[in-house]
Amino acid sequence: MNRSYQKCRELFLNSSSKLPLTIQRSSYELPYSDPSGKPVSTDFIKIYKNSPPKKWLLLTSGVHGLELFFGSAVQSHLLQGISDEKYILPTDVGIIMAHALNPWGSAWLRRVNINNVDLGRNFISNFPEILEKYKTDPRHIEAQKIYRDIDEIINPQSFPLLGAADLLRIGYYFWKYGKSKFNFAMLSGQRFKQRGAQFAGKSMDLEHRSFKAEIDKLLPKDSELVYHIDLHTGLGEKGKETFVVADEESNKAAIEIFGKKRVSFNTILGGEVDGALISGLKLAQKTEAKWLALTFEIGTTPIYKSYLAVRNEAIWHNQQLWIEDFSRKEIQGINTDYYLSHRTKKEILENFCPSSKEWQDSALSVGLSGVSTIIKYLASYR
Ligand SMILES: [Zn+2]
Repeated sequence: MNRSYQKCRELFLNSSSKLPLTIQRSSYELPYSDPSGKPVSTDFIKIYKNSPPKKWLLLTSGVHGLELFFGSAVQSHLLQGISDEKYILPTDVGIIMAHALNPWGSAWLRRVNINNVDLGRNFISNFPEILEKYKTDPRHIEAQKIYRDIDEIINPQSFPLLGAADLLRIGYYFWKYGKSKFNFAMLSGQRFKQRGAQFAGKSMDLEHRSFKAEIDKLLPKDSELVYHIDLHTGLGEKGKETFVVADEESNKAAIEIFGKKRVSFNTILGGEVDGALISGLKLAQKTEAKWLALTFEIGTTPIYKSYLAVRNEAIWHNQQLWIEDFSRKEIQGINTDYYLSHRTKKEILENFCPSSKEWQDSALSVGLSGVSTIIKYLASYR
C-alpha cells in the first residue's frame, strides 16, 4: 500500500491505462501544493462497457486526507482487476471514481484540509441554517458548554508533559459527563473551534464545491440507481469493515447486502453527524436516481488511540504550520522534512494506515470484496 499522495495518484492514473472499456478522465487542480511544491489535484475516471448505463457505482477516496492510502489502493486494484478480467464489469453498470477528495491533507499527512476543516463534516449546502441549529437547540447549547470545559484536554496548545496524567484527566472528564455526552460535545463543539482537532468549517469548502460540480457533469441525469461508497479507515474492529449509513433506504439496502452486524446507522461518535459526504451529496445531487450510500470503514487501532493521534498531530501542526492566510499557494520557509518526520506524523499514519503487511493485505482484500459485492448488487437490481 502506497503511503504517499503522489505515488497513489501515479498508480491510480496508470491503472486505468489498459482498460478495454469506454473511459472518460478528468481532474481539477487545487490551488495548493504538496511538500515538494508540486500542485495537488483530485482525479476522476468514468468507465462503462458499451452505451452509458443507468446504474452507477460512485467510489470516492481520501475525504480524510491520509485515509486516502487505503481508499486509493482499493480503487487502483479494482481498475487493475477489471483490466486483468479478475473482476467483470456488468454491461449495465458503470463506475465513477473520484481519487483524493482532500489531496492537500493526503500530501501533508493530515486528516483535515488546508483550512483545518474536517471535510467529513463539511458537505452542507445550507450552512447558515445548520449553524443556527447548533446555536439554538438546547442539546447543542449544553454540548458546547461541555466542549468549553473539555477544550483544554482535547485541544491542548502544547504536548502534555506527563502522558499518564494527561490520560487520567481525559478519563476524569469522560467519567464526569459520560460517554454519550462527552462524544456529542466533541461533535457539536467542533462547529465553532477553528483550531480544534476536528473543526467542521464555516461554509462548504473548495474541495467539496469542486467535487460536486464535477459529479454533476459526470453522472448522467437519467441515471436510475447510484450506489455511493466513500472509503475511510479508523473506525471499527482492526482489519474488518464497518458500514455507516445515513438514511433508512441505504440502511435497508446495506443490511440486505451485508447483514445487520456490520452496519451502523449514522452514529459516528454517538450522535447524528451533519455534513458527512454520503448524506450531503445525496441531498445535493441532481439526478432522478434512487440513491444509496455508505461510508466504508476499515478498523485500524482502538478509537482512543486514533483520537490521541489526531490530537497530537494537531498540536504539532498548529505549532509548526498554522496558516493564517489560507489563500497562499505555497507554504514558505518551512523545513518540510522536519515537519513530516515528526513522531506525531508517524503516529497518525500508523493509526490510519498501519504499516503491517497483514493489516494492509486484509484491508485491501476486505475493501475489494465489499466493493465487488456492491457491483454484483447493482447488476442484479431491477
Ligand atoms: Zn474518515
